[in-house]
Amino acid sequence: MNKVDLWKKAVSLRKQLGDDATSPIDIFTLAYSIDRLSIVYYPMGERLSGICVKDERSNVIAINSSMTLGRQRFSMAHELYHLFYDEDQLTAICAKKIGAGSDKENEADQFASYFLMPPDALSDMIKQIKKVPSDKLSIKHIVRIEQYFQTSRQAVLYRLVGEDELTLQEAESMRENVILSAVNLGYDDTLYKPTSVEKQYGTYGYYIQQVKKVMERGLISSGKYEELLLSAYRSDLVYGDEAGGGEVLD
Ligand SMILES: [Zn+2]
Repeated sequence: MNKVDLWKKAVSLRKQLGDDATSPIDIFTLAYSIDRLSIVYYPMGERLSGICVKDERSNVIAINSSMTLGRQRFSMAHELYHLFYDEDQLTAICAKKIGAGSDKENEADQFASYFLMPPDALSDMIKQIKKVPSDKLSIKHIVRIEQYFQTSRQAVLYRLVGEDELTLQEAESMRENVILSAVNLGYDDTLYKPTSVEKQYGTYGYYIQQVKKVMERGLISSGKYEELLLSAYRSDLVYGDEAGGGEVLD
């Protein structure tokens, strides 16, 4: 695996999508703006994290929404690697365990790690945390890093072991009691939990734009329009406040 190349790709894609090279990233909003990409959230059970399907006309990324928010963010970054840089496969079906699959899967994991936690930003943060370079990172620091970059515990440990900041043994001791370790330090637990059940099903991005477009051009009936949105788990666009243009003043 060529880590420098993956680092360069991660920085290049951040810039291509309009972000800078180092800040924490709102990866879902970023993904919704990608041309001809539909995003589907669906609870896929225990084993899969996500799927990327590429086609000449449009692309789909599906995210396992029953995993924690931090992990879903990592999955999205992993699938972006398949979408933009994986020239071998038109369909990638990706397992849950980080850094344990084929070469291509490992590359996508390393890319995802760099995309969410840019090396420059991470090393600056570690320098700031450690008073002297020989200091060891503790659980308090791990929580601070994962909260800052909004990444799952497993993803942070995988990265810090890879960077020789933690030994495998040290990382192992930090894999458990994840929520407890964060809430006891005063953090919110949203990052460590799955999305609420009503938000585990949904389609965003290109698909929604296309359904709107064919409706506006009079190419489909309003019944068909509603059917297409309902089959994409977007009853909110048919029956909800959004359907009537309702807005809360903010
Ligand atoms: Zn993959």
